[in-house]
Parts: sequence; C-alpha cells; structure tokens
Amino acid sequence: MGRLAGKTVVMTAAGMGIGRACAIAMAEEGAEVHATDIDQSSLDSLAEVNPNLKCLRLDVTDAAAIRALPERIPVPDVLFNCAGYVHDGTLLDADDAAWERSFQINVRSHARMIEAFLPAMIERGGGSIINMATVASSLTGVASRCVYSATKGAVLGLTKSIAKDYVTDRIRCNAVCPGTVFTPSLKARMAASGDYDKAYEAMLDRQPTREMTHPEDIAPIVVYLASDESKVATGQFFVVDGGWTI
Ligand code: NAD
Repeated sequence: MGRLAGKTVVMTAAGMGIGRACAIAMAEEGAEVHATDIDQSSLDSLAEVNPNLKCLRLDVTDAAAIRALPERIPVPDVLFNCAGYVHDGTLLDADDAAWERSFQINVRSHARMIEAFLPAMIERGGGSIINMATVASSLTGVASRCVYSATKGAVLGLTKSIAKDYVTDRIRCNAVCPGTVFTPSLKARMAASGDYDKAYEAMLDRQPTREMTHPEDIAPIVVYLASDESKVATGQFFVVDGGWTI
C-alpha cells in the first residue's frame, strides 16, 4: 500500500518541472492527485503517466476560477501550492508590472488557493498545506532575484501564519525551499543568459555538493509532508539545496 493511499491532493503548476515530478511521485504513492496547470498540453501528457492523476486547467492568477475550484474537485487532504514565477533582476530592473505579476503568481495565488479550500479542510478534520518557497527568500540573498526573493519571503511568512492560526484545527502548513533545480524554466533562464555552459557551471558552484538538483530530488520531501509521517511537523521550512545555505 502506498504512503499516500486514500489521500486526495490538489496542486498547482503540475505540468512541468518540480510540480510534475511531485504530482507523479504522489500519484505513485497512491494519492488521487488533482493536478492543475495553465498549460493544457503538459496536463494532457501528465494524465497519461498514472491513472491517479486527474488533470484540469487552472491559471492561478484567475481569482474567480480558484474560487470555483471547490465545486469541481473533492475536499483535499493535501493542498500543494507549487506555482511560481522568477523575475530576473535587481530592484532597479523591476517595474510595477514585475512586482504585480510576481506577487500574483508567487503569493496571492497560494493565499487564494488556501482561502478556497481551508474551510472545508477544517470541517473535514484537518490536512496538510505545502507551499513552494526557495532559499532565495529571507533565507539567503541571491544576486538578481530581488522581486522573486521578496515574494518568496512572503510565502514563508504566509506559511508561518497559516500554521499558527489553524494548528488547533489540525491544519499543518509547511514550506519547501529548494536551491537550484534543473527544470524547463531554469534551462530557459540559462539559455537566455547567452552562455549556457557558463550559466550551468555557475549553478553548480552555488551548491557545494556540485550536484545539479533535479525535480525528482525535491519530490520526496513533498511526499513526506503530504503523508501522515509528518503529522507533527508544521510551520517549518524544509530546505533541500545541495548545501547552498550551510
Ligand atoms: P517551471 O517554470 O519549470 O514550471 C512551472 C509550471 O507552472 C509550468 O507547468 C507552467 O505551465 C506553470 N504555470 C506558469 N504560469 C502559471 C499560471 N499562471 N497558472 C498555473 N500554472 C502556471 O517551474 P519550476 O522551476 O519547477 O518551479 C516550480 C516552483 O518551484 C516555483 O514556485 C518556483 O519558484 C520554485 N522553485 C524553483 C527552483 C528552480 O531552480 N527551478 C528553485 C526553488 C524553487
């Protein structure tokens, strides 16, 4: 029997990268995973991986669609907010649109998903909320990640607040903080730098293990937080960063 047998998961940004690896890992552990993403074609291919994956399109910036989501899917035992957007640049590179887009995708979407499902999760007796953060936040300073880090720091604050406010309702809320993970969006950022090989080496240099982290390396901590094995863990930041922030 899988470690997540009998559990229902709802998650965002499941189509590619870390979200996809986590969706597959949770489905393989027996959960019924309601996997959402803005990109229908990546959902179509995800649905073919495992029958436990129930895929539906969701743009996390669409507040009305999030509010309507509980009518379309069951009350989750696990809510995994994975959607995120990286603004590349310093404070002086960021305009209002960059701040707005980053806060909408990285913070407001997590809060809206929690608002949508929390009352029913409480009524049903509790559950686990997992928010995707990163070490590029209040945990460490990273060059050219000003807006991204500010929003991910906000995710950590949101995580603590939810954990504190609802601990007696048996709602757990934790954050996952990867270092650098080799995903489609990271590859695109490395290509955009103009020198892919140099960018790849720079990524390796940040992590003392000098081992590139892959989405499948992040999935086990998400499976743990989704499972009852983590039943006494709440309000914590789970760093998986190849030694970057030692
Ligand atoms: P990715 O960019 O490779 O994939 C992101 C997924 O999000 C895609 O399937 C895309 O279609 C979907 N998406 C984009 N906009 C969306 C929207 N408006 N609504 C719904 N879905 C949308 O992502 P990734 O690199 O795997 O990152 C996933 C999460 O992990 C993010 O929150 C990111 O900040 C975080 N993270 C990534 C890294 C890394 O190095 N890749 C490190 C630390 C944390």
